[in-house]
Amino acid sequence: MSSPDRPFAVVTGASSGIGAATARALAAAGFHVVLGARRVDLCAEIAAEIDGTAVRLDVTDAQSVSAFAAAVPGCRLLVNNAGGAKGLEPVAEADEEAWRWMYETNVIGTLRMTKALLPALLASGDGHIVTVTSIAAIEAYDNGAGYTGAKHAQAMVHRTLRGELLGQPVRLTEVAPGMVETDFSLVRFEGDQEKADAVYRGITPLTASDVADVIAFAATRPSHVNLDQIVLKPRAQASAMRAHRT
Ligand code: NAP
Repeated sequence: MSSPDRPFAVVTGASSGIGAATARALAAAGFHVVLGARRVDLCAEIAAEIDGTAVRLDVTDAQSVSAFAAAVPGCRLLVNNAGGAKGLEPVAEADEEAWRWMYETNVIGTLRMTKALLPALLASGDGHIVTVTSIAAIEAYDNGAGYTGAKHAQAMVHRTLRGELLGQPVRLTEVAPGMVETDFSLVRFEGDQEKADAVYRGITPLTASDVADVIAFAATRPSHVNLDQIVLKPRAQASAMRAHRT
């Protein structure tokens, strides 16, 4: 992997949805993108298209994260995007395995990737960490405590770094989307297409590219400009629980 004139950007969860769109947007903005996910074949297809690099990555596996970090020759931008939800049940019926998956992927995954790549981000002299949280990191909603809890905790890792890294050459941007049509709901409902489709019925949701555009914008501001937190939602969505459907 070599990139004589392009800075390196790492995107986790780049095999689909927001991560895949972000990899494309960052490549268009001049980055050499390293795409990480468990489905490395999908990452490799996108990497071929954007002259990037695909490396297998499971953010829930410490060894996988170490091997990934060792394979990355440099890092100016880390996009902590890998994550998602499992289930939509009241607390009284919570599935511990699903909660564990959400905490391992969203929270510990973000922590691990950030720890692993922080030395390279600092060494770049102009590092930037973008973390994709959610409006679930801002609000509580019924039946969502596993995901809202994990997203709040992920956001705390990220927001705490804003203070801890003050004075260091690393910017921190949290991107918190509302409803985006990706495989997110399909994963949440374990492949139940009908349930997934119902989430987006009667509304024009954000697309993965809408979010990717925002990430690329934040990443291409002058290095003294830190976009701290960006919340973006479809026009027809006021909050996690309140949308206007036709
Ligand atoms: P998606 O299409 O399901 O993408 C999720 C990505 O995460 C996939 O590339 C998946 O890749 C990766 N991933 C999951 N577990 C992983 C692991 N253990 N190691 C490495 N990668 C892993 O959904 P999305 O909407 O783009 O989600 C991206 C992020 O946006 C998530 O953090 C999600 O919470 C957040 N978000 C989504 C929405 C929404 O409405 N869609 C709203 C707000 C925030 P592999 O399966 O190949 O590993």
